[in-house]
Amino acid sequence: MFESLSDRLSGVFDRLTKQGALSADDVKTALREVRIALLEADVSLSVARDFINAVQEKASGQSVTKSVTPGQQVVKIVHDELVHVLQGDGDPGALKIDNPPAPILMVGLQGSGKTTTTAKLAKRLKERDGKKVLMASLDVNRPAAMEQLQILGAQIGVDTLPIVKGEDPVKIAKRAKTAAAMGGYDVYILDTAGRLHIDAELIAQAAAVRDVAQPRETLLVVDGLTGQDAVNVATEFDDKIGVTGVVLTRMDGDGRGGAALSMRAVTGKPIRFVGLGEKMDAIEEFHAERVAGRILGMGDIVSLVEKAQQTIEADQAERMMKRLQKGRFNMNDMRMQLDQMMKMGGMEGMMGMMPGMKKAAKQIEDSGMDDSVLKRQIALINSMTKKERANPQLLQASRKKRIAAGSGLEVRELNQLIKMHRQMADMMKKMGKGGMLKQAMKGMF
Ligand code: GDP
Repeated sequence: MFESLSDRLSGVFDRLTKQGALSADDVKTALREVRIALLEADVSLSVARDFINAVQEKASGQSVTKSVTPGQQVVKIVHDELVHVLQGDGDPGALKIDNPPAPILMVGLQGSGKTTTTAKLAKRLKERDGKKVLMASLDVNRPAAMEQLQILGAQIGVDTLPIVKGEDPVKIAKRAKTAAAMGGYDVYILDTAGRLHIDAELIAQAAAVRDVAQPRETLLVVDGLTGQDAVNVATEFDDKIGVTGVVLTRMDGDGRGGAALSMRAVTGKPIRFVGLGEKMDAIEEFHAERVAGRILGMGDIVSLVEKAQQTIEADQAERMMKRLQKGRFNMNDMRMQLDQMMKMGGMEGMMGMMPGMKKAAKQIEDSGMDDSVLKRQIALINSMTKKERANPQLLQASRKKRIAAGSGLEVRELNQLIKMHRQMADMMKKMGKGGMLKQAMKGMF
């Protein structure tokens, strides 16, 4: 899985991580190579382009972290972006099969590996999750397919619904539902008929079965070797039938992996499993983190950068603490505070945690301020010069206007920020003297 892509990328990053300093051009060249590698792996054009843009943007906004090289940082950014492309906004979690008997509908083209996957999944659910599983083939056009499922069932020790000649798929689905309920099964898997191409009849049949079975999961099986075609098939099936997840088969082959990388971004549907061979155990749950790690093959660097980033945050907090104790609290500190607040779930909760800030928290609530305010305040501070941040008293009316305009905001908001800063600085000073500051900061970092 992903061998050639992985080889290509490790070549690019080996060169990059060996360099001590990186120019913007070095990064650009490396990313151009990454883009080519993605396209050669048959990743869709738009996904590859968005990927590179996202990495580029993050790499240019990245401040230098000590103890790792810029190249290592780029590897981490690429890794995180790979995870993002592979899983979208989050891990889909386990299959939804809690309410027995839970129906799972398997759909896909003929030859995609649907029947094999049905049996692999049944075996997995039986052995790993201790579920009692029933399988039923609805492929009335191909008696051989029905027999194939029966043979696989016997092989793995999973029951199959007895074959009754002359029944249509909807009838079989209903019979499976009854048999599953009567027989105390946890899950029943319906293996629908496949065709070589998506046609109206195939879709109509799958939709009719879906309507009677009301599946908890509808898994689309697609052949990973078919690259972008797999993604197109998924889009079409999802439009017409609605799928909850994808199983990519034949990922054991020397396929280029593009289907896996484009699937989530193009269809919005998660890959739930990958098929890795013909044997009944050759199925794996799909984990974006693990796959990204496999593609990049640079797990050491990724964890190194993660650690360095944590250390740097702790260092920053320590330094800020020292400054605050000395009664210094400038706009840079304030920005750090605001960033931290964003990370810790917003303003109100944050303020409420700090002694002496309860009143401020109340004021915030009353004034209807929310986290968008935090973002605007950060934008305002970003528009100030270094000197102004160190010493906000320097701000004259004309500069205030420019800063506000520069961040698309009103001077009024800037004045509010300055006032808030002054109040906080006063308070920090008082708290610093009383030793309360240390106490308060403990809860924050
Ligand atoms: P269906 O027509 O979609 O039901 O496809 P089948 O389940 O009959 O599979 C077609 C062929 O693909 C069979 O020879 C399977 O053994 C093979 N196959 C299925 N999944 C995989 C896989 O993940 N890797 C490999 N190498 N072969 C697979």
